[in-house]
Amino acid sequence: MASGSQTFPDEVRTHTALHVLKGAVVRVLGEGSLWTASTYVSGKHGRLTVTCSAKPSDEQVKEIEVLANKKISENLRVEVKTMPRSEAEKTYGNIIYDLFPVPPEVKELTLVIIHDTDGSIWNINACNKEHLPTTGLIGKITIEKPRFRASKKLLEIPFDISP
Ligand SMILES: [Zn+2]
Repeated sequence: MASGSQTFPDEVRTHTALHVLKGAVVRVLGEGSLWTASTYVSGKHGRLTVTCSAKPSDEQVKEIEVLANKKISENLRVEVKTMPRSEAEKTYGNIIYDLFPVPPEVKELTLVIIHDTDGSIWNINACNKEHLPTTGLIGKITIEKPRFRASKKLLEIPFDISP
């Protein structure tokens, strides 16, 4: 793969970073943070909002950042594939979805699958946006101070990407 993340728009890099970051969040914070409530991307800045039952410690936030950047340095393959919704649900289960449901009339899904080095799936999500072919093209993720919204049980994780 040619070097040079500059060949991809910042928004594509930042958006792909959301998928890598989500994988790290679930591994560090557990199943309680399995559901993405919303995402935001503007240039090199992004924000991932997930379900969360308690405010994570500074150490956990650092662990998420370290783990996400490890998966970037491993240059994992990002696969995009379209398949019938019923088949996708049967094969992967409801982890392909976010907190808010895909309308029932949608019968075909585009899945974004980040393949880990050991053959397992680092992250999988039904997503129609544009993605990088490999995680190494993201650059580096720097997490800013997260905000835990106790009343809604949501954790907002803002971050920036850099070359
Ligand atoms: Zn996506």
